[in-house]
Amino acid sequence: MGYILTKEAFDRALKTLAQERLIYAPVLKVGEGRFTDTDVVRYDYVTELSQIELSKKSDYAFKEILTPLSETLFFFTENEVKTADRDQREVIVFMKSCDMHAVRRLDQIYLNNGIEQDPFYKEIRDRVKYVLIGCQKSGADCFCVDMGTNKTTDGYLFSVDVIGDEIYCDVKCEECAKIFADCGGKEEAVEPKYVTENATHVTIPEQIPNSIYKNPVWDEYSSRCIGCGRCNFVCPTCTCYTMQDVYYTENGKVGERRRVGASCMVDGYTNVAGGGQYRKTKGERMRFKVLHKIFDFRKRFGYDMCVGCGRCDMVCPEYISFSACINKVNKAVEEVQNGSN
Ligand code: SF4
Ligand code: SF4
Repeated sequence: MGYILTKEAFDRALKTLAQERLIYAPVLKVGEGRFTDTDVVRYDYVTELSQIELSKKSDYAFKEILTPLSETLFFFTENEVKTADRDQREVIVFMKSCDMHAVRRLDQIYLNNGIEQDPFYKEIRDRVKYVLIGCQKSGADCFCVDMGTNKTTDGYLFSVDVIGDEIYCDVKCEECAKIFADCGGKEEAVEPKYVTENATHVTIPEQIPNSIYKNPVWDEYSSRCIGCGRCNFVCPTCTCYTMQDVYYTENGKVGERRRVGASCMVDGYTNVAGGGQYRKTKGERMRFKVLHKIFDFRKRFGYDMCVGCGRCDMVCPEYISFSACINKVNKAVEEVQNGSN
């Protein structure tokens, strides 16, 4: 089932959906980028099409909605604990195909990684629905085709592709189909656009020999990487967090507990009691991050964690390329397997 709408008709449909729901989408924030006079694309509330940035990739991922960087989980007093109130409305998030695949990775970690599900994640996850933004042009850093995340065929309410002055929507939800029809949409079969070619390519090694852990391939990152953690914070599949208790009283018995995003690249991440630290050098941290994304996660769950969105390349202040690193690791693995290292 599909619909073709004018921009005005699509806005009417969006307004109808927004009456009882929170709608988030990538928004171009002019002048709010990292450097003077630069822009940034971040997730924000939207109510009409003109607010949505459909062509550029968001600099920060949708995960700000599912797993905010800092989130109060509950408040405590000396005698009781109260879970933080949350807006109970349904949430709709616009995202591209690679990010739809990233949701599966978040679900894997928070909901299907052991006996217990994360109740705070589940509570919001159960209220979130998705709109697929069709991808008509690959970003320079994207390698979604090699990661198999360039196409999504289900899991969304409807898709959006702007072609000329019209909006093409593949609609999977009956309520949305009715809204589109009521707003003047023309019924016609629609297939969401997706890219079939990226400029960036990666070759993922199938196996990682143990000797790769001590391979010199990691050494350059000890000098280049500054351990800022930006690559983790923009990554749609990074899920690490830490806990912070904020006390309102001096006796430490009244306050709130927050879940705060953490990064395996920053100092202190592997600190343990007694002053130990497992991964002291940036090269060791890079090894941990990269192998988790392209090998260790797959070993446990059967598919790679990285979705090839390229955001970590876009944000790194040291111009460290994740895709280039994958290819260097693959070359090092081949050399080990051929006996030349
Ligand atoms: S590791 Fe980089 S390319 Fe892979 S999903 Fe994370 S941000 Fe995207
Ligand atoms: S963004 Fe770049 S410099 Fe910062 S921790 Fe990641 S790889 Fe290192």
